[in-house]
Amino acid sequence: MAWQYEPRDPAKRAVCHCPLCGYDLGGEYHYLDLKQGYEICDCCGCEYGYTDTRAHREAWLAGGAKWRNPKARPADWSLDEQLKNANPDWWRYTPAELP
Ligand SMILES: [Zn+2]
Repeated sequence: MAWQYEPRDPAKRAVCHCPLCGYDLGGEYHYLDLKQGYEICDCCGCEYGYTDTRAHREAWLAGGAKWRNPKARPADWSLDEQLKNANPDWWRYTPAELP
């Protein structure tokens, strides 16, 4: 599924993939629930609401895109394919920006 997240549009506030690395979250989250849940991504290792930043993404990519939890890595994993589901601009959006 292509990335649909656009918090200014109430119909598009669902997040299904890690915004930084595109890892499939295995469910659908309201982006605020994800931001305030402080879960850690199995793939890129960001902590949502804390280190879910462009800087973390760039450091993760520069470091070879290593998995935080290698057991979660699919056998046929492709970084390029997974990154298509990412939205690194997610850091721009804060609750204050929303209508
Ligand atoms: Zn991630």
